[in-house]
Amino acid sequence: MASSVTGPEIERLIQLLARLPGLGPRSARRAALHLIKKREALMAPLTGALQTAMDRIQVCKTCGNIDTTDPCTICTDPRRDPAIIVVVADVADLWALERANAINGLYHVLGATLSPLDGIGPDDLAIDSLVSRAHQAQVKEVVLALNATVDGQTTAHYITDLLQDADVKVTRMAHGVPVGGELDYLDEGTLSAAMRQRTLF
Ligand code: ZN
Repeated sequence: MASSVTGPEIERLIQLLARLPGLGPRSARRAALHLIKKREALMAPLTGALQTAMDRIQVCKTCGNIDTTDPCTICTDPRRDPAIIVVVADVADLWALERANAINGLYHVLGATLSPLDGIGPDDLAIDSLVSRAHQAQVKEVVLALNATVDGQTTAHYITDLLQDADVKVTRMAHGVPVGGELDYLDEGTLSAAMRQRTLF
């Protein structure tokens, strides 16, 4: 291993930054140096923002979104259509759909998709809470916005079966999406078009 050019505190900063998605060791080193050079303008407010986020972040007990309030901002927004619940695997997918302004409903974050190979079964996902939400009188449609992967589609079929007793229409996004495509990587136009053209599952 190459010898360090900085003290352990700065090395530690670099190592932590290198764990962020999209940052390798080299860009982590550059990011660390940038932060250090911009201590007042960037590092101090970033430290404050991280601390505030750390203190206040909560998982919404209704939908699984990450926010600083529980219930989250989306669940308490009176302009949302409570007749629609959009089911996503991960908060990243929820944020992608919101960025695209794809739909004005409520969400339900499963936490993952079923994956027998990785040992992820129904008990590992927020499925029971989805089924009980789908039975609420105001809910008319459950939109499955799951990845076009084998695991995503297995999950979609599993949920559709469980929702047969509920008085809801189960739809899915019209994936103009390559097989194996992940929602988070789609551009906003594609996402909102896929949501507009959703079909009965
Ligand atoms: Zn919520």
